[in-house]
Amino acid sequence: MSSDGSTFLHSVNRMFDHAVALMDIPPGLAKQIKLANSIYNVRFHVRIRGEYQVFEGWRATHSEHRLPVKGGIRYALNVDQQEVEALAALMTYKCAVVNVPFGGSKGALRIDPKAYSRAELEAITRRFTLELDKKGYIGPALNVPAPDLGTGEREMGWIANTYRLLNPDDINAGACVTGKPVEAGGIAGRVEATGRGVQFGLREFFRHPEDMKLAGLDGTLDGKRIVVQGLGNVGYHAARFLQDEDGAQIVAIIERDGAVIDDDGLSVESVRDYLSETGGVKGYPDGRYEEDGTTVLEHECDILIPAALENQVTADNAGAIQARLIAEAANGPVTYEADQVLRDAGRVVIPDFYLNAGGVTVSYFEWLKNLAHVRFGRLQRRIMETRIESAISAIEELVGRKISEEHAKILSQEYDELNLVRSGLDDTMREAYQKIRELFHARADVPDLRTAAFIVSIDKLVHYYEEYAL
Ligand code: NAD
Repeated sequence: MSSDGSTFLHSVNRMFDHAVALMDIPPGLAKQIKLANSIYNVRFHVRIRGEYQVFEGWRATHSEHRLPVKGGIRYALNVDQQEVEALAALMTYKCAVVNVPFGGSKGALRIDPKAYSRAELEAITRRFTLELDKKGYIGPALNVPAPDLGTGEREMGWIANTYRLLNPDDINAGACVTGKPVEAGGIAGRVEATGRGVQFGLREFFRHPEDMKLAGLDGTLDGKRIVVQGLGNVGYHAARFLQDEDGAQIVAIIERDGAVIDDDGLSVESVRDYLSETGGVKGYPDGRYEEDGTTVLEHECDILIPAALENQVTADNAGAIQARLIAEAANGPVTYEADQVLRDAGRVVIPDFYLNAGGVTVSYFEWLKNLAHVRFGRLQRRIMETRIESAISAIEELVGRKISEEHAKILSQEYDELNLVRSGLDDTMREAYQKIRELFHARADVPDLRTAAFIVSIDKLVHYYEEYAL
C-alpha cells in the first residue's frame, strides 16, 4: 500500500480504466483483459537448521492470449497476492507494447533472501520450482519466469536445472526460465538488459525535441543531472551506462538505508562497490549522506529514475518532485494519483511497462536461442567479419586512403551475440517509443505518454482476442 492509501493493483487498474475510457472496445472485453486469468498460491516447507520452515509464494497468470506467459520471480518480505497480480498485468501490457509475443505472468516468494545461506536459498528455490512444475506454472511452452527484485542469474540457474531434472524428456527444458547464467543456457547481455533498455528508451526520448520541450528540456543526455533510486540490477546498469556512455551526471543515489548526494556527480561504480562491501550507502566517503532517502526523490535534477520499488511517488510527495522527467525503471513507482499531480505540474513520465521492457525483450531472445539450441551469430560471424574486412580494404584501395576511425569502429563491430542482442534491444525500444509518441501527439484527448502506451498495448490485445482467441 502506498503512503496515499492506494494499492499497486488498484493504481495499475485505474490507469488501465483511464485508457480504456478513451477507446472503443467490444462490451466485456476490457474486463477480460484487465483481470488475471489465474493465480496459484502455494505454501511449502523446507527443513532449515533443524526446523520446518514454511514459505508462501504466488504465480499469477494475467493473460494467456499468447503462450508462453512471461514474468519475473520476486523474492521479498512484503509481497502479497495483489502485488503479484499488478506485476503480472504490467507484464501483459509490457509484452504487447514492445511486440514480444508472450502473455503476462509474475511470481513471488515471501522471503528475505539476505537471511539465508546460499545452500538454503538453493533448497528453497528448487522446492518452489517443484511446486510450480506440479501445477503447470512453469515450462517452455506455458510459463517462463525470469529474475526480478531479490533474484538473479543464480536463482534462474537453479530453476532451470530443477525443471530439467523433473522433465528429462523435454529437449527444450532450458527454455523454461530466462536470465540464466550464460554457461547454463543464458544469453549475453541479459543481466544488463533492463538498464540498457532504460538507456535506449531515454536516448530515443532525447531524439524528439517536441517531447523534450514538453518536459522543459533540451539538448542531449550529456550533462543532464540524474537522481537514481535503487542501485540494484536495473538502477546500477542504467546509471552506469548513462554516466559512462552518454555523459549524464548522477547527482544522488537513494538506497534502503538512505541516500548519498553530490551535485558535482557521483561515481556509480564506486558507490556500487561501497554498497556491495557494506550493504548500504551510509558512510560513503565521496558524497553527502541523507538518512531519509525518500526525501531525496525531491532533489533538484533533470531526470529522476526510480529503479527500486512500486509506490514511491505518491499524491503526498508528487507535488514536491523537481525532476522535469521521471523515467520509470522500476515497476509501478508512480501511483495513479501522483501521475495526475505530475502531469498538472508539467512533468513528463516515461512509463514503466515501456521503459523497463528491456529485460523481457532480451528474455525473449534468450528463449529463442534456447529453442534454436544455438548461439546467435554462431553460423554467420566469420563470414560477416571476412566480408566487412574485405570491403574496407577494397574501399581503401580504390580511394587511396584509410577510412575514418569513426567509420572503422562501426564497421568492425564484432558480429557476436552481445552486439546482436544490443542491436535487437535498441531497435525494439526505439520502435515502441515511436509508436507511443505518435499516438500521443495524434490524439488531443490522450493526456500523457502512459495513457498512450496503454492504448497502443490494449489495442493489440483487443485485436488478438477478436481475431484469434478462443
Ligand atoms: P534488485 O534486487 O537487483 O535491486 C533493487 C535495489 O533497490 C537494491 O539495490 C535494493 O537495495 C534497493 N532498494 C530496495 N528497497 C529500497 C528502498 N526502499 N529505497 C531505495 N532502494 C531500495 O532488483 P532489480 O531487478 O533491479 O529490480 C528493481 C525494479 O525493476 C523492480 O521494480 C523490478 O520489478 C523492476 N524490473 C526488473 C527487471 C529485471 O530484469 N531485473 C525487469 C523489469 C523491471
